[in-house]
Amino acid sequence: MSKNVVIFGSIVQDLISYTERFPRPGESVRGSAFHAGAGGKGANQAVAAARLGANVTMIGMVGKDMFGDSNIESLRQNGVDTSGVGRSQEKHTATATITVNQEAENSIVVTLGANLDLLPEFADKSHSLLANSHLVLCQGEIPEAANRRAFEIARGNGAKTFLNPAPGDAKMDKSILSLTDIVCTNENEAEFITGIPQTTLEDAENAARKMLEMGPQIAIITLGAKGVLLAQTLNSKPDLKLIPVQKVEAIDTTGAGDCFCGSLAALLSLDGNLENVERATRCAAKLAALSVTRRGTQASYWKKGEILEKFP
Ligand code: ADP
Repeated sequence: MSKNVVIFGSIVQDLISYTERFPRPGESVRGSAFHAGAGGKGANQAVAAARLGANVTMIGMVGKDMFGDSNIESLRQNGVDTSGVGRSQEKHTATATITVNQEAENSIVVTLGANLDLLPEFADKSHSLLANSHLVLCQGEIPEAANRRAFEIARGNGAKTFLNPAPGDAKMDKSILSLTDIVCTNENEAEFITGIPQTTLEDAENAARKMLEMGPQIAIITLGAKGVLLAQTLNSKPDLKLIPVQKVEAIDTTGAGDCFCGSLAALLSLDGNLENVERATRCAAKLAALSVTRRGTQASYWKKGEILEKFP
């Protein structure tokens, strides 16, 4: 079996209603438009990676319902191997019910459903997919114990482990960092992990150094339009670099972090060498910046062919 990227994580059906204003409790308002799309941090990252031409396998859970069917189909159409996606016996496919008002503010209810059945036993059942991978990428939308088990299997078989603890909260189990090779957070998640409030670049640098002390060889903090802070342990010392991104006309930043992580995983697997992490990070930051110039989440991720056409 060829080595590839395994995304172990969430699959969520997005249901988005656009309306002038949010309804008050007990009130019903008319929507002006509706969009249903495949989502979830795991699935978003799998799609971002597959669109760059990486060999990607998704391990996740959906329900035995029509959203389960459509989310699996959407992954397949994007070139993701879905042989690792299971079906929960009782739980429905996860949904994110999103309302967007005229000011482009959103209110979101996420019901994790079948994702909560992605338990350590399922990681054990997926042993051969995890063991045969080059890199395993997990996020924070499924039970923490399952991520830990997936990383134990990956590490035990020589695969690199990549953690994006999003959306995260201060209660997250930080001990998983001792099983992590690469950790990538945004500023909020960096604060949850390190307890260092994030306002300035110096705060991010201190958080990145602290994350390196917690286990990973590589710690990355994404900083929105300011780019990415890359921290690596080189010759037993932390080496930090701020990687700026090009100025773009930002239209929709939803899913930019997922685009960055999925792209980085793909580039590292295509390159096959963690030594080239700086080059891969620069490229993933560019791709994430390109994604914010288009509307939608997965719909905004660029395909390899489009990139080659625009930047020959
Ligand atoms: P998250 O979506 O997880 O909060 P960020 O907002 O830090 O993550 O964005 C992730 C990456 O997406 C950034 O490091 C950058 O490469 C790109 N990005 C996000 N917002 C912008 C923007 N306004 N302009 C250019 N690039 C952006």
